[in-house]
Amino acid sequence: EYPEIATPVRTQAIMNQYGIATKKSLGQNFLTDLNILRNIVAAAELGPDDDVVEIGPGIGALTEQLAKNAHQVLAFEIDDRLIPVLADTLSPYKNVKILQQDILKTDLPTTLAQELPGNGPKKLVANLPYYITTPILMNVLQSGVALTNIVVMMQKEVAERLAAKPGTKEYGSLSIIVQYRMNAEIAFIVPKTAFVPQPNVDSAIVKLTEREPLTVMPFDEKAFFKFVKGSFVHRRKSYWNNLLVLFGKSDDTKAKITAALAECAVDPKIRAERLDLRQFITLTNAFHAQGL
Ligand code: SAM
Repeated sequence: EYPEIATPVRTQAIMNQYGIATKKSLGQNFLTDLNILRNIVAAAELGPDDDVVEIGPGIGALTEQLAKNAHQVLAFEIDDRLIPVLADTLSPYKNVKILQQDILKTDLPTTLAQELPGNGPKKLVANLPYYITTPILMNVLQSGVALTNIVVMMQKEVAERLAAKPGTKEYGSLSIIVQYRMNAEIAFIVPKTAFVPQPNVDSAIVKLTEREPLTVMPFDEKAFFKFVKGSFVHRRKSYWNNLLVLFGKSDDTKAKITAALAECAVDPKIRAERLDLRQFITLTNAFHAQGL
């Protein structure tokens, strides 16, 4: 009987046995704290019928805990050196499948339909490679894959932006685009000391859950995302000045901007970080209706 993978002693032994030096370029920081892993599993509310997708299993620390608590685990690992390691460390678990694949080049709906064909709830649980946290989340959220919840570790600063509420300095386009799809909250903070090697920053577990349906929808999602991003390009300017940069400064454009803002009862002197999700959606539609 081996001790669990996520202990400092076993992790070091595995890395020595396979001559694995972690690659900073792939965001390889391995969790060696079982308590944190159990808290991640608890946050995901895993049950025996759940199928779990993991991104970046590393040497299998989190994968092992997922395998013990879920129905099936499907994990995507880009680093070919880790594939034989995972085959070995996870050999006691028959419900795990590892695909050597770049998650950013993966067609998730197709792959999940093939690899996790069951009807049980699907969840995403991962200690993400920090250098691509945002593109991974954007791809997953845009993919159309139905996930009951998403529990992911990332750099604390990014987590704070995802979960931020209007009127805070962390609130911006990332908060709005994520919260458009799902409810976002920080489940807990994870200190650097939980990893080998230790990252330079603290981390946080973010929990995304299904949100209540929106009562207004943007006329077009791409246009909405583009408008939200454009709204925060000049954070220190008033919203009015941002809009002039976004749409143009001619008298005709100014009149249309004024009309759209009035229709949405938005004060031109406000700053973008004061506007909530619903206001961004109604503004997207109102500017579109003005032909902007
Ligand atoms: N899950 C392990 C743990 O918690 O100890 C390792 C997490 S480590 C922060 C991130 C993992 O993501 C590494 O194993 C790395 O090789 C992998 N990774 C990096 N880029 C990836 C990509 N584009 N697609 C899939 N996996 C990737």
